Amino acid sequence: MPRTAVVFDLFNTLVPGADAARDRVLEEMAAVVGVDPAAFVRAHHESWPDRLVRWGAAETVRILSGRLGARPSDAAVARALRLRFDLGARLLADVTPATLDALDTLRAGGYRLALISNTTAETAELWPATALARRFDAAVFSPQAGAAKPDPPIYRAAADRIGVRPEGCWFVGDGADRELAGAAAVGMAVIRTTEFQDTDPAWPGESVASLAELVTRLT
Ligand SMILES: [Mg+2]
Repeated sequence: MPRTAVVFDLFNTLVPGADAARDRVLEEMAAVVGVDPAAFVRAHHESWPDRLVRWGAAETVRILSGRLGARPSDAAVARALRLRFDLGARLLADVTPATLDALDTLRAGGYRLALISNTTAETAELWPATALARRFDAAVFSPQAGAAKPDPPIYRAAADRIGVRPEGCWFVGDGADRELAGAAAVGMAVIRTTEFQDTDPAWPGESVASLAELVTRLT
């Protein structure tokens, strides 16, 4: 089957993952809601399965604060959320012209583009206002899909949204959350990217070092 679509991961594929910046903001949020910063960062990391597919942004702050013995006011939760949303907006804006050019070239070449992201609730809310969003025919975020990579439903949801069977899609990602194997399992052809991070070095298939190299490969 000819491949007519490219499905992208988001963090460490189109924009940096920025793990250190994320942890710094979590520490600032902890101070705002009155809990120990290191414990809040730890509780946040340990709660990823719930955050990816179940909890909203405010719910996350309230639940994690509660687990650490605090009952922050609505105003404190709102201030903590503002920090989180500001970070999310900065991360989504941190896209290079080369990446935007690569997406434009793929679209001009006739590919439909979709995004699949394992992420927390605020990313989906911030997405529509980004320069990336208008390059994509569909974006599927784990909290909205109620599913996360590497499970098949989130890949199939993205393929459905762009009207292409999974076998007609390339999947491009750094490889976090075993996303490459998950894509291959539903029939997508996988290309690993190492542009931002060498996340899955044992992946036996193709890889590229930049989206410009991907464009050369696919057009
Ligand atoms: Mg990634």
